[in-house]
Amino acid sequence: MLRWIDILKFAANGNPEPDREVDKTDEEWESILTPEQFRVTRQHGTERAFSSEMCELFEPGKYQCVCCGTVLFDSGEKFDSGTGWPSFTQPAKENAIAYYKDDSHGMSRVETLCNTCDAHLGHVFPDGPEPSKLRYCINAVALEKVESNEAKATFGGGCFWCTEAVFQRIKGVIAVRSGYSGGDVINPTYREVCSGRTGHAEVIEVTFDPEVVGFEDIVRVHLGTHDPTTLNQQGADRGTQYRSVIFYRNDEEKQAALDLIKEYEGALNKSVVTEVRTFVAFYPAEGEHQNYYNGNADRNPYCAAVIEPKLAKFRKAFPEMIDKQADVR
Ligand SMILES: [Zn+2]
Repeated sequence: MLRWIDILKFAANGNPEPDREVDKTDEEWESILTPEQFRVTRQHGTERAFSSEMCELFEPGKYQCVCCGTVLFDSGEKFDSGTGWPSFTQPAKENAIAYYKDDSHGMSRVETLCNTCDAHLGHVFPDGPEPSKLRYCINAVALEKVESNEAKATFGGGCFWCTEAVFQRIKGVIAVRSGYSGGDVINPTYREVCSGRTGHAEVIEVTFDPEVVGFEDIVRVHLGTHDPTTLNQQGADRGTQYRSVIFYRNDEEKQAALDLIKEYEGALNKSVVTEVRTFVAFYPAEGEHQNYYNGNADRNPYCAAVIEPKLAKFRKAFPEMIDKQADVR
């Protein structure tokens, strides 16, 4: 997660490498943009406050650069700042946006540009909501909203090497990332989380297509493939970082999680200790923890001993949900 200190470093020392670069002449930009889009994005203009309905728009989707189509922001990071300009707490990717010091108009600000095509977007300020405290204040005319059939869910069910492997094999799941959530430390490391002192749990972030698989189906897999009855423990793994938890993003998800837990308790005739709490932030784990089972099944005996029995449980309990292309092992 980017914080103000990171933004200041980019503005002072240089920006991250973009995935690609788009370079056009002013004449070429003029031919594909409206005069207002051209004035704001190519001539560092500012649109009138409250001039766009985009401020009030919070439906799921992605926000692309109006010039080059690069995805700059996700609706999940959009918030109502009351300023009259669309506002976000994070970019879609850390290298999506470039930052430059802007001392114009007697103010000291940080200007934001599309890192792919140098379109002027707006500014970023350190007065946004927790935990990043960033407010990307963006001209609506520099953005294009595109529909997206993607939703996110975040669960903790013990070691993320295991839970990631299960969720990667569900039909309708687009991506799974291992990481940390539920604690107070921003951008924690694996070592810090393992100390048990950050308040974070090992979790996975599941990106899924709700038209193929629903939140409730995914919660069922979650409850059915780890042990939600043992407090702060999964098998031999003990500690609050291994606790069972479901994070919700709205009241419907909260109610669905509580109902399913109740149903599951009835079926087990045992109490379930799974925490149900509001989602605040997800911090991706280090690269070596991502796609762990698929990349290490032959090397680490933990995979055969601990992960494979969990996969077998998943295949047996949820055969209709298996994505046969993803479940190649
Ligand atoms: Zn662009």
